[in-house]
Formats: sequence, C-alpha cells, structure tokens
Amino acid sequence: MNGSSDKSSFTTRSVVEVMQATPASDGDGVRLLRVFGGNNLARFDPFLMLDEFGSTEPRDYIGGFPPHPHRGFETVTYMLEGKMEHRDHMNNIGLLDAGDVQWMKAGAGVIHSEMPRQEEGRMRGFQLWVNLPAAEKMTAASYRDIAAADIPAYNLDGVQIKAIAGTLQVNGKELTGAVQGNSTQPAYLDIHAGTEATELVAVIPESHTALIYVYEGKVAIGDQRTGIQARQLARLSPGQQLRLSLEAASRVLLIAGKPLGEPIVHYGPFVMNSRAEIEQAIADYNAGRLVG
Ligand code: MN
Repeated sequence: MNGSSDKSSFTTRSVVEVMQATPASDGDGVRLLRVFGGNNLARFDPFLMLDEFGSTEPRDYIGGFPPHPHRGFETVTYMLEGKMEHRDHMNNIGLLDAGDVQWMKAGAGVIHSEMPRQEEGRMRGFQLWVNLPAAEKMTAASYRDIAAADIPAYNLDGVQIKAIAGTLQVNGKELTGAVQGNSTQPAYLDIHAGTEATELVAVIPESHTALIYVYEGKVAIGDQRTGIQARQLARLSPGQQLRLSLEAASRVLLIAGKPLGEPIVHYGPFVMNSRAEIEQAIADYNAGRLVG
C-alpha cells in the first residue's frame, strides 16, 4: 500500500476456491442443492452451510422439514418464491412468503418445523447457517420474520440489490441491510443484474470471509476476472475491495462476515466448540432438555 487514495491501490479480492452446488436430500425428502456444508468448515468461518432449494415439482418439497432441533448457531431462510410455515417450541408461527426472510437464533436450543404451505407451484429459496461465538451459543433462542417490504432495496446503475443484512459500500453508495448488530457482522445481499452487463465494486472489511453464490447467469470476479457460473460458489481471498462483473440478468448472493476463529464441531443440527458440548446437546435433546 502506498497510501494513495487512487482506487487501483486497494487490494482486490480474488477467487481462491470454486465449489459446485451438489444435489442433496434433507428433512422429509426435500430435494435441494447443498452449496457448502458438512466438514472442513473453518475456511467459511463464520458460515456453516448454504442450501438452495427450488422446484416446480411438489414431490421435491411437500415433505418439508418436520420438527427438529438446533443448537449453537443461526439459521437464515430467504424465500424467492412459494410459501413456507415455521412453527417452534416458543409458539411462534410465521408464514414466509416470496421475498421474506426469517432470521432465527437457535442459541441453547430450538425445536421447529419448516413446512411448505402450498401444494403446487414453484418453491424456491435459500437457507444459510451462521455460527454463533462460544459466548452466545447457550443464550436464549429468538426468532424474527422480516417481510419483503421491510428489506431495503437499492437500484445501482440498473442493478437491483436487496440488502438483507449488514452495512457495506457498493459503487460508492452505503447499503444498509434489514439485520444489523450481530457479533459476526454478517452482510447478505441478493443482487439482480439488469438488462446490461454491469460492474460493481463492493467494500467489505478486509479480513472478513466473503462468498459469492451465482444462482442465475454468470459473473467475473477480481482483477483476474475469474468466471463463475450458475450453481457455483466462489470463496474469495481477503482484500479491501471486491470487483464483480455481472452478465445481464445474472442473479447472485453476496455473503460476508467476521470470522470467529474458534473451534467448530458440527454434528447434524448441532454446532458447538467441542465434542463434549455436542455430546451434551445430544443428551439434552434425548432427555427433553434441549429447550425451555
Ligand atoms: Mn431447521
């Protein structure tokens, strides 16, 4: 760095890994695409999993996700199309409609169901898992529905951006998402290119993990202009700015957050810091003590 304010002096993020979303089944036979998740999660810190679900075939989604537990992290469900109903042990009932987001902190424990409220038509969306710091894993569960109308929407040079979470600067404009104040400082944008190819430059804290998931179209990332296609995830290097060239009509998620740097032990619906804490979660669930 030479201290110049020249834009070219900023370090630009590059693609360090490309992952292909792979078909998987979860819940009661719901067919989805797992973008990442499972093991070796440290490089995605603070994120733990990203699923894309989408089908016009009711048999692919109608089984839903009957009651199941979580402990130790947050789940973020973002619906693009269709209707999903959430019910939990705290007696929350929420209907997620197209464009809505549900941000749930499992904390010490939640038992919930996520069931389709449609018998035909297209169901489409994403679920992201965000880790909690050790100090917050055993805090009380909480749940928040954010209606589509309450998610800030921006138009930057013909690109439509929905700011679900975080605060970051894109093409010189500060975008403020609906969700703020979490310790992992998550940023979550849904970006839709318009009818022309467009370049965005985003400023994200240099050391934060940054991911780009392309769900329609094609983009090029960084000074090397690495091409990323639909159903691919790009994990990016650290850097002071992100250069994203979108082909016309491309649709991508930009997800970024502050790494926790703590041990991650993942077993099914539980994500803790040690094997002993996982064993405790299983024992608590089996004894009916996971919640309340
Ligand atoms: Mn769940």
